Amino acid sequence: MRLVFLGPPGAGKGTQAEQLARDLKLPHISTGNILRQAIKVSTPTGLEAKSYVESGALVPFDIILRLVRDRVLQDDCRRGWILDGFPRNLDQAHALAALLVELKIAAPKVVYFQVRDEVLVRRLSGRRTCRNCQTPFHVEFSPPKSAGKCDRCGGTLDQRADDQEAAIRKRLVVYQTETVPLVAHYRSAGQLLTLSADGDPGQVSTELRSLLGIGVATS
Ligand code: AMP
Repeated sequence: MRLVFLGPPGAGKGTQAEQLARDLKLPHISTGNILRQAIKVSTPTGLEAKSYVESGALVPFDIILRLVRDRVLQDDCRRGWILDGFPRNLDQAHALAALLVELKIAAPKVVYFQVRDEVLVRRLSGRRTCRNCQTPFHVEFSPPKSAGKCDRCGGTLDQRADDQEAAIRKRLVVYQTETVPLVAHYRSAGQLLTLSADGDPGQVSTELRSLLGIGVATS
């Protein structure tokens, strides 16, 4: 199964992708997580990407494409993947299509997470992410069992630099101008599945599985 999760920042793509990927034993490829990890350990890509990620701007095309290409060519991607956060504009969508043609892989289904604006801001400002394993939490909607600590690995929970108010505003503008055109693009290609993602993670997960025609969550 190959899926692309498309939607605004704060739509819950990462949370849903992580759970579904675990259940289906597929890699969850989050370009945002890969970039944050590269920044954390100061790889050349991380150093190049840092200022873009922290301000909420899109990282240049060449960097992202190299990163996605390298990742989907790895062995664990043979059975499929869930792409979360890529593509984010039409240039990236065309590049992905070309890459899949080259690899003789059928076009993926694109799940569009539809969420109201006021829900997004509330979700983003309360979001916390494990510094170590990147598991997402929310201070209000999915708090960790012990405050500030990851349930999974015990790592410290951080607020992302780009979840501060100025960067949130910038990311929502970038989403509107760059990413929204992908909805029409994938709809007209017959690849789009629209998911109503205003609810809590459990409700969204149930709806997602029914949209994809798969069984209930196992984790
Ligand atoms: P995310 O975790 O998906 O919200 O991504 C966090 C940040 O990483 C974005 O605001 C961008 O700076 C960068 N980023 C992630 N994916 C992409 C992409 N496909 N193209 C360009 N920049 C990206």
